[in-house]
Amino acid sequence: MTGPALLALDFDGVLCDGMREYFETAWRAGRRLWPASPATPPAGLFEAFARLRPLVESGWEMPVLVQALVSGVPERELARDWRPDRRLVRLGLARETVAAELDRVRDAWIAADAAGWLAAHRFYPGVVERLRGLVAGPGRVVVVTTKEGRFARQLFHGHGLSLGEGNVFGKETRRRKPAVLRALLAHERLPAAALWFVEDRLAALREAAEAPGLAGARLFLAAWGYNTPEDREATRRDERITVLPLERFAGPLAGWLAAT
Ligand SMILES: [Mg+2]
Repeated sequence: MTGPALLALDFDGVLCDGMREYFETAWRAGRRLWPASPATPPAGLFEAFARLRPLVESGWEMPVLVQALVSGVPERELARDWRPDRRLVRLGLARETVAAELDRVRDAWIAADAAGWLAAHRFYPGVVERLRGLVAGPGRVVVVTTKEGRFARQLFHGHGLSLGEGNVFGKETRRRKPAVLRALLAHERLPAAALWFVEDRLAALREAAEAPGLAGARLFLAAWGYNTPEDREATRRDERITVLPLERFAGPLAGWLAAT
């Protein structure tokens, strides 16, 4: 078999681009958490947020990023040194509170306008078809994401896709991605070399590369996702991680390993 026995895919920035939704939910959550926020987003805020989205690891950071930009912290400073925990302390809230508010806003949006919520996301070109082929086998395909798994499942469902019971691992697992991947390998009694992991955040891939028990896993940086030209350049110099362009993701698994 040319492909992996276990293929793990990140969701946001690999399968799905939800930039409009991230911004809108982050904005609405911020308005509720910090009522002194302006009533409408200042001009240019969405664009700055989108440029800085590669910094974000988990959803709770997004309202914090919006607040930082609204309060006038220069984009360059945030790009150079993104420390959401420290910013959150200054904003006087716990990350759980912000995460819960973000999920609440999301749930309220879905309840009020499910079609509009779905429409604020788009799967990257060719991804839905590719996923259908991959899910058909022979390997197991799982999604490992920092968002609540139920939101990813709703987006799959909206596109007539199902990954099968128990194949979406989200924030509810309360574990970091390497721990989820290790548990999956152990459960399937597979060696790390049987795992391929596609992710758009370079820091997450580096964490996986250094995680005990994952040595030998194939790690891919989704070049089309939320990363910067600098991230892709650094990855080309990193022999542990392969840069994967979207056209290659859409093609046969055997072609993913070619150098870029
Ligand atoms: Mg991602």
